[in-house]
Amino acid sequence: MTAGAFRSAVQKLFLYIERNDFKSMDCLFCEIAKGNIPSTKVYEDETVLAFKDINPMAPVHILVIPKEHIADSAADITPENSATVAHIFEIIAKIAKEQELDNGFRVITNSGEDGAQTINHIHFHILGGKKLPEKMA
Ligand code: 5GP
Ligand code: ZN
Repeated sequence: MTAGAFRSAVQKLFLYIERNDFKSMDCLFCEIAKGNIPSTKVYEDETVLAFKDINPMAPVHILVIPKEHIADSAADITPENSATVAHIFEIIAKIAKEQELDNGFRVITNSGEDGAQTINHIHFHILGGKKLPEKMA
């Protein structure tokens, strides 16, 4: 590691400490939300970002995330953060219309190990654009 890269890593660490923001350290979706990792954006406002899944499972496969790391998964939804989750669902309805998913779509949030969650920043998959399998598991 070069001295410059080391300095920048230490500065970043201090920033996380100052903000008491350990949850977002090394979180891929936090980095996408900050624009440090590129994504194909579909929708953005102050609190929410929607972007195309890198490994689409359907013709339309969009991920909707809160920009802030408010929860690891649906298991962490509380009265304090549920307004953001409600807002996300309003945005999901808006995106579904924009993507012309008039014939239907599916919203999934995987939670924890048994839920096969791979990124521990709460997110909602919008899947559509074809008739999806009837079996969910
Ligand atoms: P989970 O399995 O946690 O419910 O979903 C994580 C999703 O994130 C997966 O569908 C995976 O394809 C997607 N994903 C993982 N890494 C990236 C990335 O770097 N960019 C984008 N756009 N999607 C990603
Ligand atoms: Zn995060």
